[in-house]
Amino acid sequence: MRVSFGLFAAAALMTSVAGTTAAYAEEVNLYSYRQEKLIRPILDEFEKDTGIKVNVVFAKKGMLQRLKSEGMNSPADAILTTDISRLQAHKAAGVLQSVSSDKLNANIPSQYRDPEGVWYGLTVRSRVIFFAKDRVKAEELSTYEDLADPKWKGRICIRSSSNVYNQSLMASMIANLGAEAAEKWAAGIKANLARKPQGGDRDQIKAAAAGECDVAVGNTYYYGKMVNGKDEAQKAAAAKTAMFWPNQDGRGAHVNISGAAVTKASKNKEAAIKLIEFLSGEKAQKFYASSNYEYPVLAGVELDGTVASWGKPKFDVIGLDKVADSQVEAVKIFDRVGWR
Ligand code: FE
Repeated sequence: MRVSFGLFAAAALMTSVAGTTAAYAEEVNLYSYRQEKLIRPILDEFEKDTGIKVNVVFAKKGMLQRLKSEGMNSPADAILTTDISRLQAHKAAGVLQSVSSDKLNANIPSQYRDPEGVWYGLTVRSRVIFFAKDRVKAEELSTYEDLADPKWKGRICIRSSSNVYNQSLMASMIANLGAEAAEKWAAGIKANLARKPQGGDRDQIKAAAAGECDVAVGNTYYYGKMVNGKDEAQKAAAAKTAMFWPNQDGRGAHVNISGAAVTKASKNKEAAIKLIEFLSGEKAQKFYASSNYEYPVLAGVELDGTVASWGKPKFDVIGLDKVADSQVEAVKIFDRVGWR
């Protein structure tokens, strides 16, 4: 069930805590934006391995507001969420705390964790280019920067600038190229749009397949879901399009993370750290990454078959903390160039 973090969610967690305290010596309470089916099986493993019970509130929105209003009375020990911008927003709001762990530092490459030890990346996704195979050749594509070239006028589909994935992509352009060049790029993309931004990432790929545009921008795992899902229209759209890895001769494709952090209010800090360590470890990484067609953060973990079929891309290794630092500027630039 995916709900907002309202009173209902808090009540659900309390009930679950009260109902299970007797069976476990230790517990950890988790607020999660990640879906239950992606993580419940690994949490079960963690409970079996450690004897620590994991109580989870799954929700779709309202986590930060909830944590802020609960303050130090929050029952949450840790959060799980996607996107560096959300992790950074929680850090900036002061609802998280810094932790140190040799295991986390060993398992997670430095670009995927906060230098101050507040947030830790657990899975990696990239934001890439998709193209209509009957109208575009892979050789015509190269970089994110190239999408701002007038040759793509009226040919690009990308979602709204209010979306955090686009904000992080924009922030990475600022962090890599500087604000001035990034603003020119954003204006170029805006000028090349095939239509007013609308829908999610999958809708952009579907629009490219339907001929509304020739290229689309989207996150890699959505393509995995389209290829392997039950939706025939999505499967057909995926078949008409192909994925292209941008900036392979340069800095590499923009990546983002899903991650975890310990809350400032945590009453079970050690257990929360153990849980995040477990999620970064061998046993959890394979399942966690492949369950959503993502990349593991831990080196050497086998990829999901579909993900492996996308080749061996070069990823941008810029620290995501630096990308996060450009988030505010990214939103201002979107505003200035009129990318709604
Ligand atoms: Fe998503």
